[in-house]
Amino acid sequence: MMSETPGNWVLAVHGGAGQMTRDRLSAEEDAGARAGLAAALHAGSAVLAAGGSALDAVEAAVRVLEDDPHFNAGRGAVLTYDGGVSLDAAIMAGDGQRAGAVAGVGTVRHPVSLARRVMTTPHVMLSGAGAEQFAREQGLEAAEPGWFEIPRRCQQLEEMKARGDGWFDEEMKFGTVGAVACDAGGRVAAATSTGGITAKRWGRIGDTPIIGAGTWADGVCAVSATGSGEYFIRAGVCHQIAARIALAGEAPAQAATTALAEVAKMGGSGGVIVVTPSRDALWHFNTAGMFRGVAGSDGARRVAIYGDEG
Ligand code: ASP
Repeated sequence: MMSETPGNWVLAVHGGAGQMTRDRLSAEEDAGARAGLAAALHAGSAVLAAGGSALDAVEAAVRVLEDDPHFNAGRGAVLTYDGGVSLDAAIMAGDGQRAGAVAGVGTVRHPVSLARRVMTTPHVMLSGAGAEQFAREQGLEAAEPGWFEIPRRCQQLEEMKARGDGWFDEEMKFGTVGAVACDAGGRVAAATSTGGITAKRWGRIGDTPIIGAGTWADGVCAVSATGSGEYFIRAGVCHQIAARIALAGEAPAQAATTALAEVAKMGGSGGVIVVTPSRDALWHFNTAGMFRGVAGSDGARRVAIYGDEG
């Protein structure tokens, strides 16, 4: 658990939680993930330092992570059972509780930006072919053929199929990406983007694009989650954290701990990042590690992976 109040704006990012231990990650995976998180912090911080909105900042940070093959979103997304990609994303602004989400898209380079466009329509969530048609009408950048697929994901798919041991296993590293921010005006926003889980089938959609489950922002906080999505949906994790703060008067750290304990009780695992309008930023996870980072207007910049990094 980390919690701090670093000045008049703050940004936190994650690149997934799971069994990240020093013996399980290669030196390249460790260094690549840290560089990716730092680049995302850099992009989002530039927006906030220039007086931009939390909403623009979280979109900017997530776009960087979507292009980074170290994470399970955009390029480098995990593969479906049939060897394709099916991407989910959501974005939400605390002011006005405006939200946009997409599920099951496979041709848009930046699903988070598509979610942002959905936010400008009367709808909250678009899926599949309709979402892709909307992306084309909006002139959003299409991904080049083969852009998303990387060899490591093909190997993971084959291994998973060969083991045939179900949806969530003990080796799971959830590489979903997300960002939460509070800008100088005290407005908060959250964004999350993912390829879901390896070997998913039948049009499975996880928690990421479900407002209140994997992504949430309102007047009290912004939250982005990663983990075994089905449990996060069933526990309504991100909204639960906000409700605990607003209605039960819990401190943000307590609210995050309690919500994740509920997930654990059901058999799930993962993590969250949270910011509040008073610029508290925290992360909490019940896995061995979580790709994560925080930056603030006071100059603070930190990225971490393992559980013992604070
Ligand atoms: N939460 C995501 C899902 O279930 C997976 C992840 O966090 O990597 O789709």
